[in-house]
Amino acid sequence: HELIDDILDLSKIEAGMMDLNTHVFNLPESVHRLVPILQAKSSMKGLVFDCSLAPDVPDFIDGDSLRFRQVILNLVGNAIKFTNQGYVKLRMDVLSNTAQHATLQISVTDTGIGISADKLDYVFENFTQADKSSTRRFGGSGLGLAISKRLIQLMGGSIRVESTAGEGSCFTFICRFALRQEARIDPPVAVSADMPTVPLSILIVDDNIDNRMVLAAYFRRTDHRVECAANGLEALDEIRKGAFDLVFMDMEMPVMDGYEAVRLIREWEQENGRAALPVIALTANALKEDRQRSLDAGCTDHHTKPIKKNTLLELVSCYAKA
Ligand code: ADP
Repeated sequence: HELIDDILDLSKIEAGMMDLNTHVFNLPESVHRLVPILQAKSSMKGLVFDCSLAPDVPDFIDGDSLRFRQVILNLVGNAIKFTNQGYVKLRMDVLSNTAQHATLQISVTDTGIGISADKLDYVFENFTQADKSSTRRFGGSGLGLAISKRLIQLMGGSIRVESTAGEGSCFTFICRFALRQEARIDPPVAVSADMPTVPLSILIVDDNIDNRMVLAAYFRRTDHRVECAANGLEALDEIRKGAFDLVFMDMEMPVMDGYEAVRLIREWEQENGRAALPVIALTANALKEDRQRSLDAGCTDHHTKPIKKNTLLELVSCYAKA
């Protein structure tokens, strides 16, 4: 399937028929949606996956979010494929900034098998594999990088690679994007009080009993079913046993904190072929980095405590649309 899609993509690009479908999208959010997948893939090989976005990375840009993600998935996918120990890092930095544009540099670094100097010039060509025996060992079509390069060129950018055989590789792409101000592009579904909702099974995780009671009380006059856990470990136990639809997770807790818990939840889901359970981080920390940290760990969303009853119920009804 993937090979056929790749060939179709490539022949379309070559025929000049591939158009980017440009729209406004939330860049950090779009990247963060990939993180749990990439983290899971990495941890299956015992690799550390690290994703970091510089604080000045813009929120909203004009671009083709699907193609953008396709390129990142290809680069990080390769990095994981060709690395047997160590780490894979995805970094995003802003090289320059004007009122209208930002030039972004996205790099994917690994500590893998690397590419020898004489092959380095050819990896972006169609059907190229640095090592002929690698198809057998690693699979793949040798088309991914060729497609990524064309897509980046369509976006007006460029890609390069530095690598040392036996030490690792670093693929870097640079591209200029138009900035947008949109506060929200995917407005959350408007939720009105009389909108039909399905009852959910909700897990509240907090080490503070008062917080648990307050949150649980908010659901008292609803149809939702609520259970509580006092730390990450208890939450994991509950989640493995029960069928929950939604989790509210305090992040700072003794025994096992929320970051560790959500990482393990994502691992467990991956191993058992389960869909990702929405896990909403609730913390006292309101900084952008704090949100980032929760999302990096695998949380679906991040909210600051204390959370108002109406905000909480509105949030829940987004997940409970009938
Ligand atoms: P595929 O991975 O499907 O073979 P690609 O076009 O994505 O095709 O990559 C082409 C070749 O470049 C790979 O077969 C591999 O030899 C080399 N390569 C790409 N990424 C890496 C990497 N991160 N580390 C080592 N070699 C790589």
